[in-house]
Amino acid sequence: CGIFGITGHAEASNLTYLGLHALQHRGQESAGIVASDGHGLRAHRQMGLVADIFDAPVLAGLPGQSAIGHVRYSTAGGSQLKNAQPLFVAYAGGQVAVAHNGNLVNAGALKEKLEADGAIFQSDADTEVIMHLLARSKQVSFEQKLVEALRKVEGAYSLLVLTQNKLVAVRDPLGIRPLVLGRMKEGAYVVASETTALDLIEADVVRELEPGELLVIENGVLRTSRPFAEPPRLGRCIFEQVYFARPDSVLFGNSVYEVRKQMGMQLAREQPAPDADLVIAVPDSGVAAAIGFSQQSGIPYDVGLIRSHYVGRTFIEPQQSIRHFGVKLKLSAVRHVLKGKRVVVVDDSIVRGTTSRKIVKMIKAAGALEVHLRISSPPTKWPCFYGIDTPSRQELIAATHSTDEIAKYVTADTLGYISLEGLGTAVGDPSRGSFCTACFSGEYLIGELSPSMPEANK
Ligand code: 5GP
Ligand code: SF4
Ligand code: MG
Repeated sequence: CGIFGITGHAEASNLTYLGLHALQHRGQESAGIVASDGHGLRAHRQMGLVADIFDAPVLAGLPGQSAIGHVRYSTAGGSQLKNAQPLFVAYAGGQVAVAHNGNLVNAGALKEKLEADGAIFQSDADTEVIMHLLARSKQVSFEQKLVEALRKVEGAYSLLVLTQNKLVAVRDPLGIRPLVLGRMKEGAYVVASETTALDLIEADVVRELEPGELLVIENGVLRTSRPFAEPPRLGRCIFEQVYFARPDSVLFGNSVYEVRKQMGMQLAREQPAPDADLVIAVPDSGVAAAIGFSQQSGIPYDVGLIRSHYVGRTFIEPQQSIRHFGVKLKLSAVRHVLKGKRVVVVDDSIVRGTTSRKIVKMIKAAGALEVHLRISSPPTKWPCFYGIDTPSRQELIAATHSTDEIAKYVTADTLGYISLEGLGTAVGDPSRGSFCTACFSGEYLIGELSPSMPEANK
């Protein structure tokens, strides 16, 4: 998911709309904005894309100097309007809205307890647990209530919380999901999942929120605190750098584009394809790594696949008989470039292997003599429980198949993945001590989902 918030600007909801536009790649299922005019909150949430949901009259109905917004990609809770965010409720302490990026690993257990205690849930979203814990807190101030609620949840959360007069931004203690603070020339504060949203509205990047930091912005004054116990290590999501974030963002202190190019260079060192004639990318996610592979290997880069810009990531599949057209709608091969060539094809990841197989077949059908598939992340063997929608373990092809078997399945002549160490080097942390790598390594840092999880982190 993607989140955006702003306070201290007369056009808060218009700027939130633009910010959500820049974050659309983080979720295409639903979007919403909640704005405050200092007296009350107003919300608009709908299924679909940001550009289709909001227009001038809708935004005019969201007046005020503060707003938060959310683009959703379902990881917890089904794909339905009731799960669209920001969540918005009124409780004894007033109105409050929450936009959440991440996944709580103990939401199920907390929800059971709350329901046994009489709570009535409106959605299936794990985020709603935070609302109930907040509303039930016996603490005095709003911030104390929020901190008490957050001390009970475990997992990944970058959060924006809006009340009538406050904007609160929080990042979980492991810093799993990104969150960055910006400022506009006129003085308004902005908080967003990625710097690309700040660039669009011409806000300056101030800094990333620290893992475990809670920021309160009220009447133009910013207060920071670190209310949580410090974890033994950080767990920034390495897959944000591999795939999820936009390449023009600066994330965890590094340019995403540059890091992906480094991944491609490292991949070329580890898994060379010396006899190939050209390097192509699977657009868009493989482009930066393919350019790095080309630069490191000296094999020329070319455009062998064209991506349609009119098919979203969420494409409604037609009936079974014509379903195989799905990949062809999104990608098409440039026969003129590929014919008679030995081609290195660079992509960021293989999940189920079904798309990769169709792409390799398409490249061969366009006349390529050999396809050498190179992947800029290690084999995806484990599901993510912290906010990225990976399928179950049984569906991950690398969980049950060797690299040779996967090469055979996707019909590639050779297949090579970057190593975990190599990926660490590319993100500037060879030991990976500040990153979560669980989907590749199985080393889960929180939750009761992995036998390799250290007791101390529970
Ligand atoms: P597969 O061959 O496993 O079916 O698909 C691999 C492709 O899926 C790669 O091009 C990769 O960029 C893309 N991919 C990786 N992770 C995700 C994800 O979380 N969501 C979507 N929509 N695509 C993903
Ligand atoms: Fe990111 Fe993978 Fe960790 Fe999930 S398991 S937070 S996708 S690195
Ligand atoms: Mg891709």
